[in-house]
Formats: sequence, C-alpha cells, structure tokens
Amino acid sequence: VKDKLTKAQEIVSTASVRAKGVLNKFALDGQVAVVTGAGQGIGRSIAHALGEAGAKVAVADLEFNRAETVAAELQAKGIQSLAIKVDVSKKQECEDMVQKVLSAFGDLHIGVNNAGIVFHSDSEDTSEQEWTRTMGVNLNGVFYCCQAEAKHMLKKGYGRIINTASMSATIVNHPQRQVAYNTSKAGVVHMTKTLGTEWCDRGVTVNCISPGYVDTELNRSELLLQVRTQWLNETPMKRLADVEDLVGGVLYLTSKLSNFTTGLDLIMDGGFTCW
Ligand code: NAD
Repeated sequence: VKDKLTKAQEIVSTASVRAKGVLNKFALDGQVAVVTGAGQGIGRSIAHALGEAGAKVAVADLEFNRAETVAAELQAKGIQSLAIKVDVSKKQECEDMVQKVLSAFGDLHIGVNNAGIVFHSDSEDTSEQEWTRTMGVNLNGVFYCCQAEAKHMLKKGYGRIINTASMSATIVNHPQRQVAYNTSKAGVVHMTKTLGTEWCDRGVTVNCISPGYVDTELNRSELLLQVRTQWLNETPMKRLADVEDLVGGVLYLTSKLSNFTTGLDLIMDGGFTCW
C-alpha cells in the first residue's frame, strides 16, 4: 500500500509541475500594461486580471475619478498601478498617455484599447454629433492608441495590443438601432487585421476581442433593459456575459501561448453570432 501511495504522489507531483509549466506562460511579471476605458465595466475587469497575472497596470479613463478608484483597488491587492485621464478621441492625449506610462514604469508591453461608447437612434435620425463622437472614440481612439503604443513597442521589438471590438462588427443588433457603433466596431476589426499583419514580424501582435452582450453600464439604459429578454432568448447560453467571462481571452492574447496569433477577432458571445 505504501509503495502504491508513493507512486500516486509521484504522479500527482509530476502532473502539478507540468501544469505549472503551462500556467507560467500566462504570467506577466515584469511587464507593463495600459488599459483604456478601465474606470468601470470590461476595462476594469481586464485591468484587475492583468495586474493579478503580474503586470504593472496604468488605468486610463475619460473619468479620472473612476480611473483613480480602480488604480486604488489594484494597489490594495499589491499591484503597481497608475491612474491616467485620457480622452482617446484626441491623438495628442493618447500620445501623452503612453508617455506617462513610460515615465512611471519605464516600459510598455501591453496595450488594451477598450474605451467605447454607444448611441441608439434610427439611422435616418442619427445626428452628426452622435456619428462623429462614436467614430472619434471607438474608431479614431483605438487607432491613436495603437499608433502611440506601437511607436514604443516597435523600437523595443515586443508588444501585445488588444482592441475591444464587438460582435456588432459582425451582426446587426436589433431592435435597438446603433448604426454608428456597428460601423465603428467593424472598422476596429479590420484595423486590427491591418495593423496585426503590418507589425507582427517586428514583434508586435495586434488582436481584438468581440464580446456579445455584457452586463455593464453600457447596457443598462431604459431602452436596453426593455430588450434584455429578447437578448437572452437569442443567446444560446441564455445569459448575458459577466465581465469576468472575457478575461481568459485577453490573458491568452497577452501570453506567450498566443505568440503565433495576430489579426484575430476573438468572438466571446455565448454563441450569439452562431444562430
Ligand atoms: P462602460 O460604459 O461600462 O465603460 C466604458 C468606460 O470607457 C467608461 O469608464 C468611460 O468613462 C470610458 N470612456 C468613454 N469614453 C472615453 C474616452 N473618450 N476616452 C477614454 N475613456 C472613455 O462600457 P463597457 O461595457 O465596459 O464597454 C467597454 C468596451 O467594450 C467598449 O468598447 C464597448 O463598445 C465594448 N463592448 C461592450 C459590450 C457590452 O455589451 N457591454 C459588448 C461588446 C463590446
């Protein structure tokens, strides 16, 4: 019996060493990340996940008080963190954001360009302000951040850029109307493919995640609460995503395990786009 027990312990301990070998590939110790729109929702959850994986994390948001709150949450967990105020629709502010990260942490390995907004209106009534602001934040903002981050990463020969697109890049949401949003997110997916193939042989991969409906503030307007039941019925998993459902995909894209992956649109939608 004793022999069998020792043998069993050996097998368990070998398996555990093997498992740790793979899990170690997710570790981000010594790396620096910046996450935009990290003051709440999906971005906040990604900031926590990257910090827990070992990265120093800059929490960037238009609402500075939100960024400060999240940075404090990370610091309370022993994660080095910095709050930055940024309006990603302004190119200069995106460049300043990267400079602030470099001044504070000396390097930048991971950029998660996640800030986004949505307006709902019939397409014929969508105002110029709704259209230009959506494009300014969701499309221009992602490009300005990619550019500013990549300028540093290309010099160093390493970088992982992850943009937040949406399943709305692929499907047309209904009954709520959001022509500017859908168009901007389709742009993010194609921008990701373009940049992801242009920079990858110099060490910088660019990928995007496309969430389905996620239970965040973005989806808690009166109009969207009214259509929630329809969303649930149309989602094979019969639920909205929790922000935590998305971090596995991001950790894969920041890890060594995704070294041969670039230009990917990683759809995480509970099966929505399959139906
Ligand atoms: P959210 O509204 O909860 O949080 C967005 C954050 O971005 C806020 O803290 C806001 O202050 C910040 N922000 C807005 N404009 C900004 C700007 N110009 N510069 C910097 N920060 C700005 O939204 P969320 O649901 O967490 O969404 C995050 C991203 O995920 C967005 O790009 C969104 O389009 C995308 N997404 C969300 C869903 C969903 O169902 N919630 C689905 C697919 C994709």
